Amino acid sequence: MTATANEKTAETFRSLNPATGELVGEHPVHDEAAVNAAIERARTAQIWWAGLGWKERKVRLLNIKGALTRALNRVATAIHQETGKPVADAQLETVLAITHLDWAARNAQKVLGPRGVFPGIVAVNQKCVLEYQPLGVVGVIGPWNYPLFTPVGSIAYALAAGNAVVFKPSEYTPGVALLLAEIISGVIPEEPVFQVVTGFGDTGAALARGAVDKIAFTGSSPTARKVMAACAERLTPIVAECGGKDAFIVDADADLDEAADAALWGAMSNAGQTCAGVERVYVVDSVYDAFVARLTARARTLRPGEDRTAAYGPITMPGQLNVIRRHVDDALARGGQALVGGADAVKEPYVEPVVLVDVPDDSAAVCEETFGPTITVHRVKSVDEAVTRANATPYALAGAVYSKSRSTAMDAARRLRGGMTSINAVIAFAAVPALPFGGVGDSGFGRIHGADGLREFARAKAITRQRFAPPMNLTSFERTDKDMAKLLRLVSLLHGRRYR
Ligand code: NAD
Repeated sequence: MTATANEKTAETFRSLNPATGELVGEHPVHDEAAVNAAIERARTAQIWWAGLGWKERKVRLLNIKGALTRALNRVATAIHQETGKPVADAQLETVLAITHLDWAARNAQKVLGPRGVFPGIVAVNQKCVLEYQPLGVVGVIGPWNYPLFTPVGSIAYALAAGNAVVFKPSEYTPGVALLLAEIISGVIPEEPVFQVVTGFGDTGAALARGAVDKIAFTGSSPTARKVMAACAERLTPIVAECGGKDAFIVDADADLDEAADAALWGAMSNAGQTCAGVERVYVVDSVYDAFVARLTARARTLRPGEDRTAAYGPITMPGQLNVIRRHVDDALARGGQALVGGADAVKEPYVEPVVLVDVPDDSAAVCEETFGPTITVHRVKSVDEAVTRANATPYALAGAVYSKSRSTAMDAARRLRGGMTSINAVIAFAAVPALPFGGVGDSGFGRIHGADGLREFARAKAITRQRFAPPMNLTSFERTDKDMAKLLRLVSLLHGRRYR
Protein backbone atom coordinates (compact mmCIF):
# COMPACT_ATOMS: atom_id res chain seq x y z
CA MET A 1 0.00 0.00 0.00
CA THR A 2 1.31 3.48 -0.80
CA ALA A 3 0.37 7.08 -0.17
CA THR A 4 1.34 10.52 -1.37
CA ALA A 5 3.06 12.82 1.07
CA ASN A 6 -0.33 14.22 2.02
CA GLU A 7 -2.04 10.93 2.55
CA LYS A 8 -1.10 8.54 5.37
CA THR A 9 -0.90 4.78 5.37
CA ALA A 10 0.57 2.33 7.81
CA GLU A 11 3.40 1.29 5.55
CA THR A 12 4.91 3.59 2.98
CA PHE A 13 4.52 7.04 1.51
CA ARG A 14 5.65 8.68 -1.70
CA SER A 15 7.65 11.81 -2.17
CA LEU A 16 6.71 13.66 -5.31
CA ASN A 17 8.28 16.32 -7.50
CA PRO A 18 6.08 19.35 -6.67
CA ALA A 19 6.61 20.86 -10.13
CA THR A 20 5.69 17.81 -12.18
CA GLY A 21 3.86 15.52 -9.74
CA GLU A 22 6.28 12.74 -10.72
CA LEU A 23 7.20 10.09 -8.20
CA VAL A 24 10.63 10.72 -6.68
CA GLY A 25 10.73 7.95 -4.10
CA GLU A 26 8.76 5.70 -1.81
CA HIS A 27 9.71 5.33 1.83
CA PRO A 28 8.53 3.54 4.97
CA VAL A 29 6.36 5.24 7.57
CA HIS A 30 8.37 4.46 10.68
CA ASP A 31 6.20 3.83 13.71
CA GLU A 32 6.99 4.30 17.38
CA ALA A 33 8.68 0.89 17.70
CA ALA A 34 10.94 1.60 14.72
CA VAL A 35 11.84 5.03 16.07
CA ASN A 36 12.64 3.60 19.51
CA ALA A 37 14.78 0.88 17.93
CA ALA A 38 16.74 3.57 16.05
CA ILE A 39 17.26 5.50 19.29
CA GLU A 40 18.50 2.36 20.99
CA ARG A 41 20.99 1.65 18.19
CA ALA A 42 22.10 5.27 18.36
CA ARG A 43 22.71 4.92 22.11
CA THR A 44 25.37 2.23 21.52
CA ALA A 45 26.80 4.00 18.49
CA GLN A 46 27.20 7.22 20.48
CA ILE A 47 29.44 5.58 23.06
CA TRP A 48 31.69 4.37 20.24
CA TRP A 49 31.62 7.75 18.49
CA ALA A 50 32.43 9.70 21.66
CA GLY A 51 35.22 7.20 22.37
CA LEU A 52 36.92 8.02 19.04
CA GLY A 53 38.04 11.35 20.49
CA TRP A 54 38.27 14.83 19.01
CA LYS A 55 40.95 14.19 16.37
CA GLU A 56 39.38 11.10 14.80
CA ARG A 57 35.91 12.66 14.84
CA LYS A 58 37.31 15.73 13.12
CA VAL A 59 38.86 13.59 10.36
CA ARG A 60 35.60 11.67 9.90
CA LEU A 61 33.55 14.87 9.69
CA LEU A 62 35.99 16.44 7.23
CA ASN A 63 35.69 13.30 5.15
CA ILE A 64 31.90 13.54 5.25
CA LYS A 65 32.33 17.11 3.99
CA GLY A 66 34.63 15.84 1.24
CA ALA A 67 32.19 13.12 0.21
CA LEU A 68 29.32 15.62 0.18
CA THR A 69 31.38 17.98 -1.96
CA ARG A 70 32.15 15.22 -4.45
CA ALA A 71 28.44 14.28 -4.49
CA LEU A 72 27.34 17.93 -4.79
CA ASN A 73 25.50 17.60 -8.08
CA ARG A 74 23.78 14.38 -7.08
CA VAL A 75 22.62 15.93 -3.81
CA ALA A 76 21.53 19.14 -5.53
CA THR A 77 19.51 17.11 -8.02
CA ALA A 78 17.76 15.31 -5.16
CA ILE A 79 16.96 18.66 -3.52
CA HIS A 80 15.72 20.03 -6.85
CA GLN A 81 13.50 17.01 -7.42
CA GLU A 82 11.89 16.98 -3.99
CA THR A 83 11.48 20.73 -3.41
CA GLY A 84 11.21 21.98 -6.99
CA LYS A 85 13.77 24.74 -6.36
CA PRO A 86 16.17 25.64 -9.21
CA VAL A 87 19.25 23.41 -9.44
CA ALA A 88 21.57 26.40 -8.86
CA ASP A 89 19.72 27.20 -5.61
CA ALA A 90 20.04 23.55 -4.59
CA GLN A 91 23.77 23.71 -5.34
CA LEU A 92 24.09 26.87 -3.23
CA GLU A 93 22.25 25.15 -0.39
CA THR A 94 24.68 22.22 -0.60
CA VAL A 95 27.66 24.58 -0.54
CA LEU A 96 26.34 26.17 2.65
CA ALA A 97 25.91 22.76 4.28
CA ILE A 98 29.51 21.93 3.29
CA THR A 99 30.84 25.08 4.97
CA HIS A 100 28.98 24.27 8.19
CA LEU A 101 30.33 20.72 8.28
CA ASP A 102 33.82 22.11 7.80
CA TRP A 103 33.45 24.69 10.58
CA ALA A 104 31.90 22.29 13.07
CA ALA A 105 34.63 19.70 12.39
CA ARG A 106 37.47 22.19 12.76
CA ASN A 107 36.19 24.03 15.82
CA ALA A 108 34.57 21.39 18.03
CA GLN A 109 37.61 20.67 20.18
CA LYS A 110 38.54 24.33 20.56
CA VAL A 111 35.02 25.28 21.69
CA LEU A 112 34.10 22.20 23.70
CA GLY A 113 37.35 20.59 24.79
CA PRO A 114 38.77 20.81 28.31
CA ARG A 115 40.24 24.10 29.46
CA GLY A 116 41.55 25.45 32.75
CA VAL A 117 39.57 28.09 34.60
CA PHE A 118 41.00 30.51 37.20
CA PRO A 119 39.49 29.47 40.53
CA GLY A 120 39.48 32.89 42.22
CA ILE A 121 41.47 33.87 45.30
CA VAL A 122 39.14 32.19 47.83
CA ALA A 123 39.47 28.81 46.08
CA VAL A 124 43.05 29.29 44.89
CA ASN A 125 44.02 25.77 46.03
CA GLN A 126 41.73 24.22 43.41
CA LYS A 127 42.70 23.34 39.85
CA CYS A 128 39.57 23.88 37.73
CA VAL A 129 38.69 22.19 34.47
CA LEU A 130 35.69 23.06 32.32
CA GLU A 131 34.71 20.83 29.44
CA TYR A 132 31.63 20.26 27.32
CA GLN A 133 30.50 16.67 27.07
CA PRO A 134 28.13 15.20 24.47
CA LEU A 135 24.48 14.91 25.44
CA GLY A 136 24.07 11.40 24.00
CA VAL A 137 21.44 10.88 21.31
CA VAL A 138 20.06 13.97 19.56
CA GLY A 139 16.77 13.76 17.66
CA VAL A 140 16.67 16.17 14.72
CA ILE A 141 13.30 17.03 13.15
CA GLY A 142 13.59 18.96 9.90
CA PRO A 143 11.56 20.99 7.39
CA TRP A 144 11.41 20.69 3.60
CA ASN A 145 12.32 24.22 2.47
CA TYR A 146 16.10 23.74 2.89
CA PRO A 147 16.12 19.98 3.35
CA LEU A 148 19.92 19.75 3.55
CA PHE A 149 21.22 23.08 4.86
CA THR A 150 18.72 23.43 7.69
CA PRO A 151 19.12 20.00 9.34
CA VAL A 152 22.89 19.99 8.73
CA GLY A 153 22.95 23.15 10.88
CA SER A 154 22.03 20.84 13.77
CA ILE A 155 23.42 17.48 12.56
CA ALA A 156 27.00 18.68 11.89
CA TYR A 157 27.26 20.41 15.25
CA ALA A 158 25.62 17.56 17.20
CA LEU A 159 27.97 14.99 15.62
CA ALA A 160 31.02 17.22 16.12
CA ALA A 161 30.13 17.49 19.82
CA GLY A 162 30.21 13.67 20.06
CA ASN A 163 26.50 12.86 19.86
CA ALA A 164 24.70 10.29 17.72
CA VAL A 165 21.79 11.61 15.66
CA VAL A 166 18.41 10.22 14.67
CA PHE A 167 16.96 12.44 11.95
CA LYS A 168 13.30 12.67 10.97
CA PRO A 169 13.17 14.69 7.74
CA SER A 170 10.08 16.34 6.36
CA GLU A 171 7.68 13.96 4.60
CA TYR A 172 8.25 16.12 1.48
CA THR A 173 12.02 15.58 1.36
CA PRO A 174 12.95 12.12 2.71
CA GLY A 175 15.16 11.32 -0.29
CA VAL A 176 17.61 14.14 0.48
CA ALA A 177 17.96 12.86 4.06
CA LEU A 178 18.59 9.30 2.91
CA LEU A 179 21.26 10.50 0.50
CA LEU A 180 22.96 12.30 3.38
CA ALA A 181 22.73 9.10 5.44
CA GLU A 182 24.35 7.17 2.60
CA ILE A 183 27.22 9.67 2.46
CA ILE A 184 27.73 9.63 6.24
CA SER A 185 27.63 5.84 6.54
CA GLY A 186 30.19 5.62 3.72
CA VAL A 187 32.60 7.55 5.94
CA ILE A 188 31.46 5.99 9.25
CA PRO A 189 30.60 2.39 8.35
CA GLU A 190 31.30 0.98 11.82
CA GLU A 191 28.32 2.25 13.82
CA PRO A 192 25.01 3.99 12.99
CA VAL A 193 25.93 7.37 14.45
CA PHE A 194 23.51 8.96 11.98
CA GLN A 195 20.17 7.35 11.17
CA VAL A 196 17.10 8.55 9.33
CA VAL A 197 13.53 7.67 10.27
CA THR A 198 10.92 8.60 7.68
CA GLY A 199 7.25 9.37 7.93
CA PHE A 200 4.79 12.09 8.86
CA GLY A 201 4.17 14.08 12.04
CA ASP A 202 3.54 10.90 14.05
CA THR A 203 7.08 9.69 13.35
CA GLY A 204 8.43 13.05 14.53
CA ALA A 205 6.18 12.88 17.60
CA ALA A 206 7.54 9.41 18.43
CA LEU A 207 11.08 10.81 18.24
CA ALA A 208 10.15 13.72 20.54
CA ARG A 209 8.60 11.30 23.05
CA GLY A 210 11.50 8.85 22.77
CA ALA A 211 14.52 8.40 25.02
CA VAL A 212 16.59 11.09 23.28
CA ASP A 213 18.74 13.59 25.14
CA LYS A 214 17.74 16.59 23.07
CA ILE A 215 15.45 17.51 20.22
CA ALA A 216 16.62 19.95 17.56
CA PHE A 217 13.42 21.01 15.85
CA THR A 218 13.17 23.16 12.75
CA GLY A 219 9.73 23.84 11.37
CA SER A 220 6.65 25.92 12.04
CA SER A 221 5.85 27.52 15.39
CA PRO A 222 2.58 25.55 15.90
CA THR A 223 4.47 22.25 15.45
CA ALA A 224 7.23 23.47 17.79
CA ARG A 225 4.60 23.90 20.52
CA LYS A 226 3.46 20.28 20.07
CA VAL A 227 7.05 19.00 20.02
CA MET A 228 7.87 20.96 23.17
CA ALA A 229 4.81 19.54 24.94
CA ALA A 230 5.89 16.01 24.01
CA CYS A 231 9.44 16.73 25.21
CA ALA A 232 8.06 17.93 28.54
CA GLU A 233 7.09 14.35 29.43
CA ARG A 234 10.75 13.36 29.85
CA LEU A 235 12.13 16.87 30.48
CA THR A 236 13.95 16.49 27.16
CA PRO A 237 15.54 19.85 26.26
CA ILE A 238 14.76 21.33 22.87
CA VAL A 239 16.19 23.87 20.49
CA ALA A 240 13.42 25.31 18.34
CA GLU A 241 14.06 27.01 15.00
CA CYS A 242 10.69 28.23 13.77
CA GLY A 243 9.08 30.58 11.31
CA GLY A 244 9.72 34.23 10.66
CA LYS A 245 8.25 37.45 9.31
CA ASP A 246 11.49 39.23 8.61
CA ALA A 247 11.66 42.94 7.96
CA PHE A 248 13.94 44.83 5.60
CA ILE A 249 14.60 48.50 6.36
CA VAL A 250 15.63 51.06 3.74
CA ASP A 251 17.15 54.31 5.03
CA ALA A 252 16.99 57.60 3.10
CA ASP A 253 20.65 57.37 2.04
CA ALA A 254 20.62 53.69 1.05
CA ASP A 255 21.83 52.54 -2.36
CA LEU A 256 18.36 51.95 -3.78
CA ASP A 257 19.40 49.69 -6.64
CA GLU A 258 21.27 47.38 -4.32
CA ALA A 259 18.50 47.52 -1.71
CA ALA A 260 15.77 46.70 -4.26
CA ASP A 261 17.81 43.84 -5.66
CA ALA A 262 18.48 42.38 -2.20
CA ALA A 263 14.91 42.83 -0.94
CA LEU A 264 13.58 41.10 -4.02
CA TRP A 265 15.97 38.18 -3.74
CA GLY A 266 15.28 37.90 0.01
CA ALA A 267 11.55 37.82 -0.64
CA MET A 268 11.20 35.77 -3.80
CA SER A 269 14.10 33.33 -3.97
CA ASN A 270 13.07 29.76 -3.18
CA ALA A 271 9.54 31.03 -3.97
CA GLY A 272 9.60 32.91 -0.66
CA GLN A 273 9.86 29.65 1.26
CA THR A 274 12.70 30.80 3.50
CA CYS A 275 12.38 31.09 7.28
CA ALA A 276 14.61 34.19 7.23
CA GLY A 277 13.17 35.46 3.94
CA VAL A 278 12.08 39.07 3.53
CA GLU A 279 8.32 39.44 4.02
CA ARG A 280 8.00 43.15 4.92
CA VAL A 281 9.93 46.20 3.71
CA TYR A 282 9.92 49.53 5.58
CA VAL A 283 11.17 52.43 3.48
CA VAL A 284 11.90 55.95 4.67
CA ASP A 285 9.44 58.41 3.11
CA SER A 286 11.88 60.44 0.99
CA VAL A 287 13.02 57.41 -1.02
CA TYR A 288 9.83 55.34 -0.86
CA ASP A 289 8.64 56.06 -4.41
CA ALA A 290 12.07 55.60 -5.95
CA PHE A 291 12.58 52.31 -4.08
CA VAL A 292 9.14 50.96 -4.99
CA ALA A 293 9.74 51.83 -8.66
CA ARG A 294 12.99 49.85 -8.64
CA LEU A 295 11.51 46.92 -6.73
CA THR A 296 8.43 46.57 -8.93
CA ALA A 297 10.44 46.90 -12.17
CA ARG A 298 12.67 44.05 -11.06
CA ALA A 299 9.80 41.94 -9.68
CA ARG A 300 8.03 42.06 -13.06
CA THR A 301 10.99 40.32 -14.67
CA LEU A 302 10.78 37.25 -12.42
CA ARG A 303 9.12 34.09 -13.61
CA PRO A 304 8.54 30.90 -11.65
CA GLY A 305 9.00 27.56 -13.38
CA GLU A 306 10.81 24.28 -13.63
CA ASP A 307 13.34 25.12 -16.32
CA ARG A 308 16.87 26.41 -15.77
CA THR A 309 16.00 30.02 -16.56
CA ALA A 310 13.14 30.25 -14.04
CA ALA A 311 13.82 32.58 -11.09
CA TYR A 312 12.26 30.19 -8.64
CA GLY A 313 10.29 26.99 -8.48
CA PRO A 314 6.88 25.85 -7.27
CA ILE A 315 5.35 25.98 -3.83
CA THR A 316 6.64 22.73 -2.39
CA MET A 317 3.80 22.05 0.03
CA PRO A 318 0.46 22.31 -1.83
CA GLY A 319 -1.41 23.40 1.33
CA GLN A 320 0.70 26.57 1.47
CA LEU A 321 -0.97 27.86 -1.71
CA ASN A 322 -4.15 28.49 0.29
CA VAL A 323 -2.25 30.48 2.91
CA ILE A 324 -0.62 32.66 0.24
CA ARG A 325 -3.96 33.19 -1.53
CA ARG A 326 -5.65 34.09 1.76
CA HIS A 327 -2.95 36.64 2.66
CA VAL A 328 -3.11 38.34 -0.75
CA ASP A 329 -6.93 38.39 -0.81
CA ASP A 330 -7.10 39.75 2.74
CA ALA A 331 -4.53 42.48 1.96
CA LEU A 332 -6.49 43.58 -1.12
CA ALA A 333 -9.85 43.43 0.67
CA ARG A 334 -8.49 45.70 3.38
CA GLY A 335 -7.32 48.49 1.12
CA GLY A 336 -3.98 47.13 0.00
CA GLN A 337 -2.86 47.50 -3.58
CA ALA A 338 -0.96 44.96 -5.65
CA LEU A 339 1.63 46.78 -7.78
CA VAL A 340 2.90 43.47 -9.15
CA GLY A 341 0.79 40.30 -9.36
CA GLY A 342 -2.46 40.15 -7.44
CA ALA A 343 -5.34 37.88 -6.54
CA ASP A 344 -4.66 35.66 -9.56
CA ALA A 345 -0.93 35.22 -8.86
CA VAL A 346 -1.51 31.75 -7.43
CA LYS A 347 -1.33 29.34 -10.36
CA GLU A 348 -0.82 25.93 -8.78
CA PRO A 349 1.86 24.78 -8.20
CA TYR A 350 3.43 28.19 -8.89
CA VAL A 351 2.91 31.65 -7.47
CA GLU A 352 3.92 34.66 -9.53
CA PRO A 353 5.65 37.56 -7.73
CA VAL A 354 3.33 39.79 -5.69
CA VAL A 355 4.32 43.26 -4.44
CA LEU A 356 1.75 44.78 -2.09
CA VAL A 357 1.58 48.35 -0.76
CA ASP A 358 -0.80 50.22 1.58
CA VAL A 359 -1.53 47.03 3.48
CA PRO A 360 -2.75 47.64 7.06
CA ASP A 361 -0.35 46.56 9.81
CA ASP A 362 -2.86 44.17 11.37
CA SER A 363 -3.60 42.21 8.17
CA ALA A 364 -2.47 38.60 7.74
CA ALA A 365 0.08 39.55 5.06
CA VAL A 366 1.87 41.74 7.62
CA CYS A 367 1.43 39.68 10.81
CA GLU A 368 1.55 36.02 9.77
CA GLU A 369 4.24 34.04 7.97
CA THR A 370 3.18 33.96 4.29
CA PHE A 371 5.99 31.71 3.00
CA GLY A 372 5.40 32.67 -0.61
CA PRO A 373 6.89 35.05 -3.22
CA THR A 374 5.03 38.04 -1.84
CA ILE A 375 6.23 41.22 -0.17
CA THR A 376 4.53 44.14 1.54
CA VAL A 377 6.17 47.57 1.32
CA HIS A 378 5.45 50.26 3.92
CA ARG A 379 6.22 53.98 4.05
CA VAL A 380 7.81 55.19 7.31
CA LYS A 381 9.00 58.58 8.59
CA SER A 382 12.30 57.33 9.93
CA VAL A 383 14.48 54.31 10.60
CA ASP A 384 13.25 54.57 14.20
CA GLU A 385 9.63 54.08 13.12
CA ALA A 386 10.74 51.24 10.84
CA VAL A 387 12.35 49.43 13.76
CA THR A 388 9.28 49.89 15.97
CA ARG A 389 6.94 48.54 13.30
CA ALA A 390 9.32 45.76 12.31
CA ASN A 391 9.41 44.64 15.93
CA ALA A 392 5.62 44.54 16.26
CA THR A 393 5.08 40.87 15.36
CA PRO A 394 5.35 37.78 17.57
CA TYR A 395 7.93 36.40 15.10
CA ALA A 396 11.49 37.63 15.47
CA LEU A 397 14.00 35.64 13.47
CA ALA A 398 16.21 38.00 11.45
CA GLY A 399 16.18 41.21 9.44
CA ALA A 400 18.15 43.57 7.23
CA VAL A 401 19.01 47.27 7.21
CA TYR A 402 20.20 49.24 4.19
CA SER A 403 21.90 52.50 5.11
CA LYS A 404 25.13 54.33 4.27
CA SER A 405 25.45 55.46 7.88
CA ARG A 406 27.30 52.81 9.82
CA SER A 407 26.05 54.10 13.17
CA THR A 408 22.39 54.29 12.06
CA ALA A 409 22.62 50.79 10.62
CA MET A 410 24.37 49.31 13.65
CA ASP A 411 21.92 50.95 16.03
CA ALA A 412 18.92 49.65 14.05
CA ALA A 413 20.55 46.21 13.72
CA ARG A 414 20.93 45.99 17.49
CA ARG A 415 17.38 47.16 18.17
CA LEU A 416 15.71 44.85 15.64
CA ARG A 417 14.15 42.05 17.70
CA GLY A 418 15.51 38.72 16.51
CA GLY A 419 18.67 36.66 16.42
CA MET A 420 20.40 38.03 13.31
CA THR A 421 20.55 41.25 11.26
CA SER A 422 22.37 41.85 7.97
CA ILE A 423 23.50 45.36 7.05
CA ASN A 424 23.63 46.28 3.34
CA ALA A 425 23.08 42.61 2.47
CA VAL A 426 20.35 40.07 2.97
CA ILE A 427 20.48 36.77 4.91
CA ALA A 428 24.28 37.16 4.92
CA PHE A 429 24.62 35.55 8.37
CA ALA A 430 23.47 32.14 7.07
CA ALA A 431 26.69 31.83 5.08
CA VAL A 432 28.91 32.51 8.09
CA PRO A 433 29.26 29.26 10.04
CA ALA A 434 30.96 31.03 12.96
CA LEU A 435 27.81 33.06 13.66
CA PRO A 436 24.98 31.68 15.79
CA PHE A 437 21.55 31.35 14.17
CA GLY A 438 18.21 31.36 15.96
CA GLY A 439 15.13 33.29 16.86
CA VAL A 440 13.24 35.10 19.58
CA GLY A 441 9.56 34.78 20.51
CA ASP A 442 7.49 32.73 18.06
CA SER A 443 10.61 32.23 15.92
CA GLY A 444 11.98 29.88 18.58
CA PHE A 445 14.85 29.72 21.01
CA GLY A 446 18.31 28.26 21.35
CA ARG A 447 21.04 28.65 18.74
CA ILE A 448 22.47 26.50 15.99
CA HIS A 449 25.72 27.25 14.07
CA GLY A 450 28.94 28.62 15.48
CA ALA A 451 30.31 28.09 18.98
CA ASP A 452 26.85 28.55 20.51
CA GLY A 453 25.56 25.89 18.14
CA LEU A 454 28.21 23.46 19.31
CA ARG A 455 27.42 24.19 22.97
CA GLU A 456 23.71 23.65 22.24
CA PHE A 457 24.56 19.95 21.79
CA ALA A 458 26.82 19.55 24.80
CA ARG A 459 26.59 19.95 28.54
CA ALA A 460 29.09 21.84 30.61
CA LYS A 461 31.01 19.69 33.04
CA ALA A 462 32.88 21.39 35.86
CA ILE A 463 35.70 19.53 37.63
CA THR A 464 37.82 20.80 40.52
CA ARG A 465 40.93 19.05 41.81
CA GLN A 466 42.35 20.15 45.14
CA ARG A 467 46.05 20.83 44.66
CA PHE A 468 46.94 21.60 48.27
CA ALA A 469 45.16 21.97 51.62
CA PRO A 470 43.40 25.34 51.88
CA PRO A 471 44.98 27.99 54.10
CA MET A 472 41.56 28.29 55.78
CA ASN A 473 39.57 25.13 56.29
CA LEU A 474 36.09 26.50 55.67
CA THR A 475 34.12 23.44 54.58
CA SER A 476 34.71 21.25 57.60
CA PHE A 477 33.19 20.93 61.04
CA GLU A 478 36.78 21.56 62.21
CA ARG A 479 36.45 25.15 61.00
CA THR A 480 37.65 27.67 63.58
CA ASP A 481 36.47 31.20 64.41
CA LYS A 482 39.95 32.36 63.43
CA ASP A 483 39.48 30.92 59.92
CA MET A 484 36.15 32.68 59.55
CA ALA A 485 37.64 35.95 60.74
CA LYS A 486 40.45 35.58 58.20
CA LEU A 487 37.94 34.93 55.40
CA LEU A 488 35.81 37.92 56.33
CA ARG A 489 38.89 40.17 56.41
CA LEU A 490 39.93 38.88 52.99
CA VAL A 491 36.47 39.34 51.50
CA SER A 492 36.15 42.82 52.87
CA LEU A 493 39.54 43.67 51.35
CA LEU A 494 38.65 42.14 47.98
CA HIS A 495 35.04 43.19 47.58
CA GLY A 496 34.12 45.75 50.22
CA ARG A 497 35.29 48.95 48.57
CA ARG A 498 33.17 51.48 46.75
CA TYR A 499 33.40 51.59 42.96
CA ARG A 500 33.21 54.60 40.67
P1 NAD B 1 6.22 21.72 9.96
O1 NAD B 1 6.15 22.31 11.31
O2 NAD B 1 4.98 21.40 9.25
O3 NAD B 1 7.07 20.36 9.97
C1 NAD B 1 8.40 20.31 10.44
C2 NAD B 1 8.73 18.87 10.78
O4 NAD B 1 7.98 18.48 11.94
C3 NAD B 1 8.39 17.86 9.70
O5 NAD B 1 9.42 16.89 9.64
C4 NAD B 1 7.10 17.23 10.22
O6 NAD B 1 6.86 15.93 9.76
C5 NAD B 1 7.35 17.23 11.70
N1 NAD B 1 6.14 17.17 12.54
C6 NAD B 1 4.88 17.50 12.24
N2 NAD B 1 4.07 17.31 13.30
C7 NAD B 1 4.86 16.87 14.30
C8 NAD B 1 4.62 16.49 15.65
N3 NAD B 1 3.40 16.57 16.19
N4 NAD B 1 5.66 16.08 16.41
C9 NAD B 1 6.91 16.03 15.88
N5 NAD B 1 7.19 16.34 14.61
C10 NAD B 1 6.18 16.76 13.82
O7 NAD B 1 7.13 22.72 9.12
P2 NAD B 1 7.49 22.64 7.56
O8 NAD B 1 6.28 23.04 6.79
O9 NAD B 1 8.16 21.37 7.24
O10 NAD B 1 8.60 23.78 7.45
C11 NAD B 1 8.29 25.12 7.21
C12 NAD B 1 8.42 25.92 8.49
O11 NAD B 1 9.75 25.76 8.99
C13 NAD B 1 8.24 27.40 8.26
O12 NAD B 1 7.51 27.95 9.33
C14 NAD B 1 9.68 27.92 8.28
O13 NAD B 1 9.79 29.28 8.60
C15 NAD B 1 10.30 27.04 9.30
N6 NAD B 1 11.75 27.00 9.16
C16 NAD B 1 12.52 27.58 10.14
C17 NAD B 1 13.88 27.58 10.02
C18 NAD B 1 14.76 28.20 11.07
O14 NAD B 1 15.92 27.89 11.08
N7 NAD B 1 14.24 29.04 11.94
C19 NAD B 1 14.48 26.99 8.90
C20 NAD B 1 13.68 26.41 7.93
C21 NAD B 1 12.31 26.42 8.08
